[in-house]
Amino acid sequence: MKTKSFLKSIMAAATALFININPLSAMIEDEDIAIIGSGSGAFSAAIRLANKGAKVTMIEEKTVGGTCVNVGCVPSKILIRSGQIAHLQEKHPFKGIQKSKPEIDGTLILEQLQERVLGLRQAKYEDILLQNPNIRFIQGRARLTGPTRVSIKTSEETTLELNPTKILIATGSSPTIPDIMGLQETPYWTSTEALFSGIVPKHLIVLGGSVVAVELAQAFLHLGSKVTMLARSTLLSKEDPDIGNGLKEIFEGEGIRVLTHTLPQSITYNGAFNVDLGEETLLGDHLLVATGRHANSRNLGLEEIGLTLDPEGRILVDDHLRTNLPNIFAVGDCTQLPQYVYVAAAAGNKAATNMLSEYTGEETSLDLSIVPAVIFSDPQVATVGLSAKQAQELGYEAETRTLTLDNVPRALANFDTRGFIKLVADKKTKRILGSQIVASEAGDVIQTAALAIRGKMTTHELASQLFPYLTMVEGLKLCAQTFFTDVKKLSCCAHME
Ligand SMILES: Cc1cc2nc3c(=O)[nH]c(=O)nc-3n(C[C@H](O)[C@H](O)[C@H](O)COP(=O)(O)OP(=O)(O)OC[C@H]3O[C@@H](n4cnc5c(N)ncnc54)[C@H](O)[C@@H]3O)c2cc1C
Repeated sequence: MKTKSFLKSIMAAATALFININPLSAMIEDEDIAIIGSGSGAFSAAIRLANKGAKVTMIEEKTVGGTCVNVGCVPSKILIRSGQIAHLQEKHPFKGIQKSKPEIDGTLILEQLQERVLGLRQAKYEDILLQNPNIRFIQGRARLTGPTRVSIKTSEETTLELNPTKILIATGSSPTIPDIMGLQETPYWTSTEALFSGIVPKHLIVLGGSVVAVELAQAFLHLGSKVTMLARSTLLSKEDPDIGNGLKEIFEGEGIRVLTHTLPQSITYNGAFNVDLGEETLLGDHLLVATGRHANSRNLGLEEIGLTLDPEGRILVDDHLRTNLPNIFAVGDCTQLPQYVYVAAAAGNKAATNMLSEYTGEETSLDLSIVPAVIFSDPQVATVGLSAKQAQELGYEAETRTLTLDNVPRALANFDTRGFIKLVADKKTKRILGSQIVASEAGDVIQTAALAIRGKMTTHELASQLFPYLTMVEGLKLCAQTFFTDVKKLSCCAHME
């Protein structure tokens, strides 16, 4: 902040003490803080800053709300849910209910999906802008031209210059397209086209084996597509191997062809996709490329101003969300932090506090020691804390137990016993270190494991809690019991201390 305006701020703060207005609002000048991007990380920061009285300028190149609401979490979960309903109509496990082949109208599914996306975008993003006079929104592409200088190319092709005292970069990520011969010349889909085409392919070939690939491959299978997955390594290769192996078996059981350790040699398109695997060529009417996402850090002028990126182009931030440059903060998918919307939002909130610390004296850090994560396949995959391998690498003598779902009453009542619940504990202290789950409702079950880890609970302590019968989360208690007893020999709801 320039000396003159700093003195002005001091005066304003002193005056504010006497006339009882928010001293911070008097100190922060117009355009004091610039936020690049308008996704969850950006909004979380902007709301906190605005509530504290700061003046914020938010710059967005494309659609307000960013990835999650527009082209990510929300539309993908709607498509996945519609697929689940269709799948159950044809393949549910209850003998007394007639099964029938669902009639799918891709256009109507898309219409409903778009309606919900628009509604959520309005309520959670656009209305927030309207309600917050302290947040000014500019449509345009931002670029940093100095450590406290932002140049914005607006949609009208004019250039605006801002001179903020603090900058938050929250520019998100984009799909990574692998370097495969011919691929660039084909009309392949990324997740965005897959979600918004309104088409249910006859044969969808999915390139990739991580979260987005897994979720969308199964959603399209459930909607009636034939699906082939090509994974360079295994499915969900960054997770405990039991997860990828378990999910592959489930997917193959449903009819997805899963080719692991497979990379196409070339891809061409002549009205259909020809995917050359060497020993065979796959033919498909649509190709989804879901091989990960990279940080949007290019063409932002970051290298030119000396901002440190990691070798993958992610902005490096510390646990206070500070970059190596004093007035520049970054959050969300454009950083090295995990690519989840709730991590982006939590980081945005923390960054906002730290951006104001010189006025408030308040500093805070983002604790990522316990990050529950969910993959919305069916059954769901959920993880938290350490896998057995990670625990061993950190020097723990790790003990694990895996409970298959045929031991969980809820799964038996559902007539769906696919999956497992795994707990990792420290053999010496018996403290729970991690959990990996493949089960229907795993996304809800995992939060209990997260809280058990946060509370430093032992397997005995978790096993001795009351868990409501018949819930899926009861499986977590049963799994904890297997550290010291054989659950097969217990009667229904048996309680162990
Ligand atoms: C298909 C899919 C499904 C997903 N499902 C889930 C899920 O179920 N749960 C979950 O937790 N996460 C999910 N995610 C991940 C989640 O969407 C992201 O982690 C999250 O949205 C990242 O938020 P962000 O604020 O970092 O960036 P974004 O929301 O991506 O926002 C960044 C914004 O910055 C803008 N921008 C970029 N460069 C500039 C520039 N130079 N000038 C101006 N504006 C710029 C972009 O246009 C964009 O709008 C999913 C992602 C995808 C793709």
